[in-house]
Amino acid sequence: MARPQAGAELPVAIVGAGFSGTLLAINLLRNGMRVVVIERDEAQIAKGLAFGTRRPEHLLNVRASNMSAFPDDTGHFLRWMGFSDAEQANRFVPRLAYGHYLREQLLDALAAAPGRADVRQGEAVSASFAPDAVTLTLASGETVRCRGLVLALGNLPPSRLPQLADLPGDLHIRNPWQPGAIEGLGDDDHVVLLGSGLTTVDVVLALDAAGFRGRITALSRRGLKPHGHAESGPAVGAVARPAARGSQLVREVRARAAEIGWRAAIDELRPHTQDLWRGHDESAQRRLLRHLRPYWDIHRHRLAPPAAARIAALEEEGRLRFVAGKVTGAEASDGAARISWRARRSDRIETVTAQRIISCIGPEGDITRSHDPLLRDLIEQGRVRPDAHRLGLDVDAAGHVRDAGGEPQNQLFAAGPLTKGEGWEIVAVPDIRRQVWSLARYLANAHWVGGEGL
Ligand SMILES: Cc1cc2nc3c(=O)[nH]c(=O)nc-3n(C[C@H](O)[C@H](O)[C@H](O)COP(=O)(O)OP(=O)(O)OC[C@H]3O[C@@H](n4cnc5c(N)ncnc54)[C@H](O)[C@@H]3O)c2cc1C
Repeated sequence: MARPQAGAELPVAIVGAGFSGTLLAINLLRNGMRVVVIERDEAQIAKGLAFGTRRPEHLLNVRASNMSAFPDDTGHFLRWMGFSDAEQANRFVPRLAYGHYLREQLLDALAAAPGRADVRQGEAVSASFAPDAVTLTLASGETVRCRGLVLALGNLPPSRLPQLADLPGDLHIRNPWQPGAIEGLGDDDHVVLLGSGLTTVDVVLALDAAGFRGRITALSRRGLKPHGHAESGPAVGAVARPAARGSQLVREVRARAAEIGWRAAIDELRPHTQDLWRGHDESAQRRLLRHLRPYWDIHRHRLAPPAAARIAALEEEGRLRFVAGKVTGAEASDGAARISWRARRSDRIETVTAQRIISCIGPEGDITRSHDPLLRDLIEQGRVRPDAHRLGLDVDAAGHVRDAGGEPQNQLFAAGPLTKGEGWEIVAVPDIRRQVWSLARYLANAHWVGGEGL
């Protein structure tokens, strides 16, 4: 590898130390690089949002056998857990255990690379670019000089629904992960959760585990809820990438589901979903998002069987219901919120009173709506732009972030869920571990010639 003289000692800076940033750092260190990782939330270092939970009832939604952090050592997590038989490999382990696993991998990687790694607590708020270096500024005023910058910011927090804009913050919790989000409720209270995906399930299980005995309504456009995994593991073999596209592809998957079961039919597609996405042009991708996405999500992102069983039991007891509709308005009255929605495929307006509304509507994808100071700064400089579907950042297949004019940049990269627009399935560990492993190799082999780039 031809290494440049100028800036040769500068590290690669990674903003964000969730799964994406942490595994990228570990892989870069293994490739002999220098890294500095910046994370604003100390408790989340190496764990990020998903695996920083302290709640044991929050289980992984992927079997232990598929949760190795390393694509070149698929049994790594199983060995770390001390799991050796098939029954154990099939388990859905608490996410907090996985957080410990990640933290340990980071500590081991730091110990094995003395003088080459630096993990700092702080919030990156701006970046300036010169031909030989990037200078990152933290909220504290501290600066970090690096040869290249990787954005591993995770998902953007959900946006506030305009219909709920007038509700006070104690009645409408915008961020379901914020401290106190589920505290202070009485047994006669009613909680409305907006959304019905995995975050909603997390909140329901947390309310239940915290002893909440009141009613919960989960309201979403279609009223769909995630399906559960089968008790025993998938036994899908490798299949060739389907040749069909669009609705023909959907018909083929349905036919396959009738043959081998829907779970196996979806699992068979997993190794091919990124290529299938890339094989559709922008308008076909748009149609997939509009018509297929909600159904894909509930079949693809499944619940661990114990979580699915608890959700079913709560529904049966009448404590939890899923309803389909679109929020039409909300107002505060006597310490509660009156929230209304139009029921799906009907003109009927339903109104209920809730002591708390918790937004679980999923991340904001449109970076132009983000209030994140670093993203705002990069947008203002024309360094980043939204992807065509506003799922995140516009990046190329190698991870270069495209500037406002569409040019891939040699000093700015991204990893993790914000790159969804490029490969669609970059949301879970099995996809991200491959992405950051490849990005680390790419960065390690890059010719970091001042200004000319890769
Ligand atoms: C609740 C939940 C459960 C999940 N469960 C599973 C599962 O069971 N199995 C699975 O495979 N996948 C799961 N996933 C999906 C996937 O694993 C995660 O989305 C993945 O961990 C994403 O990691 P990340 O590092 O990209 O993002 P994050 O974990 O969000 O980390 C990003 C980090 O960047 C930091 N940050 C952002 N901006 C700045 C800044 N300007 N300066 C400094 N720091 C900054 C944030 O504080 C954060 O810690 C789950 C996701 C969620 C949300």
